[in-house]
Amino acid sequence: MAQIGIVGSGIGGIAFAIRMACLGQQVHVFEANAYPGGKLAEITLDGYRFDAGPSLFTLPQLVDELFALAGKNPRDYFQYERLPEICRYFWEDGTRLHTHQDPDKTATEIAEVLGESAQNVRTYIAHAGTKYNIVSDLFLDNSLHKLSTWTGKKALTGYANLHRLGLFDTMHNSHRKRFKNPKTVQLFDRYATYNGSDPYQTPATLSIIPHLEYNLGAYFPAGGMIEIPRSLTRLAQELGVTFHLEEPVTEIRCTASQVTGIKTSKGTYDFDFVASNADIRPTYERLLTTLPKPKKLLNQPKSSSGIIFYWGVNRTFDELGVHNIFFSDHYKREFEAIFNGQTMDEDPTDYVHISSKVAPDDAPVGCENWFVLMNAPANSGQDWDHLVNATRKNVIAKISRILGVDLEKHIVSEDYLDPRRIETRTSSSGGALYGNASNNKFAAFLRHPNYRPAIKNLFWIGGSVHPGGGIPLCLSSAKIAAKLFQENA
Ligand code: FAD
Repeated sequence: MAQIGIVGSGIGGIAFAIRMACLGQQVHVFEANAYPGGKLAEITLDGYRFDAGPSLFTLPQLVDELFALAGKNPRDYFQYERLPEICRYFWEDGTRLHTHQDPDKTATEIAEVLGESAQNVRTYIAHAGTKYNIVSDLFLDNSLHKLSTWTGKKALTGYANLHRLGLFDTMHNSHRKRFKNPKTVQLFDRYATYNGSDPYQTPATLSIIPHLEYNLGAYFPAGGMIEIPRSLTRLAQELGVTFHLEEPVTEIRCTASQVTGIKTSKGTYDFDFVASNADIRPTYERLLTTLPKPKKLLNQPKSSSGIIFYWGVNRTFDELGVHNIFFSDHYKREFEAIFNGQTMDEDPTDYVHISSKVAPDDAPVGCENWFVLMNAPANSGQDWDHLVNATRKNVIAKISRILGVDLEKHIVSEDYLDPRRIETRTSSSGGALYGNASNNKFAAFLRHPNYRPAIKNLFWIGGSVHPGGGIPLCLSSAKIAAKLFQENA
């Protein structure tokens, strides 16, 4: 039985702990915070409950898979429902549109409201699925740093289909060529933000993302997103994993080429294998100070971060659903501000998530819990106090205009996160939500591998390494690392 130490209890770290425990290893997870889950955190405020981080849950089978691996019935630990309606979209000119679980219904509504051909929308959504399957066979389920990934049968099928992935066009251009209404282009461009990228730069390959929502579904867990790490932590503990909360790791101990253990605020531990679920930059800069750093990887541009307001609202809004978007009238300018200007535009797109629509206990009776997220640049020392205040004013004015209310009067409780706070609370470099940005066609190859033979017995998991950020990909990183462990142990 090998002794395994894991730095960090983000979703990737918990998933890796479960996989190792299922292989019969002795696992210890060290977490700087007082709770497991990392970016999957919770805020409670005057009778309102908020999921502080992720709000959109896709590919729930990747969570179920961990319970099944341990021989458990996932439903004994974790429940979720598929949302019949995915998102409500609002524009300043009064246009409103809903998207639905049923892709046909979505296509019909886009045809009716935005004047597109319903068949064209249906074909676009179907192609997203085809492209997703090619990409997941090649990039998402395997280590990119093993020869077998590039020579297997699936890879060969992938090469034959590479021309279909849109690597050589931007997402925005491909949408502009496909749809006639700029609002349809904007609606589908927004999916680039699901991994913190810029639709005007990112390759059209990312048009696979709508597949997750429209073909596979948007879900909501009973008890909120926080139940994902909570139920998995419960499982890990039953499997014998020990969680050391509020015990930050200060060093990953190693020889010139191999890790030997870790040092924490409370002691020194020997381990046969270590896995880092912390962001790669602080891992190299603070925990592995004696080893050479992969500078090119560490200096890749970061994905977007966010300014998030958690507002307790003292009334309900029938025109809003669980997920709502209030689009900017200046979409290109908004992304230029984020990725070139490293600042906030004065007309940002506002994403409003209201879990109390499906989980009434998340807000007092007759009230709603608003999670309001605007994409923001990663932290590089901006004046966040100023940007948060200015954004708050702009967002309240915009939503008030579109809904015809004085929103400020209805906000009765309040908290917020900005890139600076996200960085401090989760050690994510720059507070980036998804590790590196995917703004160029080589981004997938410029992510840190899940294992480097140069540093033996150390595995890398989470949003800053292959295959990328977001809950499903972090879960995949743990699966790939576990496969590499079995090959190397
Ligand atoms: P992280 O969550 O980054 O956690 C890393 C953990 O390591 C932290 O707990 C940290 O404290 C700990 N740690 C770091 N250094 C040390 C150390 N030295 N010692 C001990 N512990 C340490 N994804 C989606 O799929 N859907 C969404 O809707 C979505 N929305 C998001 C909204 C917001 C506001 C945020 C912040 C993120 C969102 N994401 C979303 C992204 C998603 O949350 C992340 O990609 C994912 O949760 C990252 O998991 P991870 O495994 O990389 O670990």
